[in-house]
Amino acid sequence: MGLDKNDLFFENAVITSIDDKGELNGKCNITSCQKPNSATWYNHSTQKYYCPSCAKRLNNDIFNKPAALDMFGHDLCTVVK
Ligand SMILES: [Zn+2]
Repeated sequence: MGLDKNDLFFENAVITSIDDKGELNGKCNITSCQKPNSATWYNHSTQKYYCPSCAKRLNNDIFNKPAALDMFGHDLCTVVK
């Protein structure tokens, strides 16, 4: 029973597509969003990445906004250049 290269490649591809949720330039970390290749905003609290619209929503949250300013001295999510 040897390993089949095609199977390995397929397995890696699946793992990569699952694992890029919340990663830089991967899927948005919001479960109900998960917009692909869009996660360019870093959340300093969860240490995950989000798409621009979710990040702006998080930043403007009535509880997040003052808490983030308190903890980090800036918005909860900041864009990665
Ligand atoms: Zn999103």
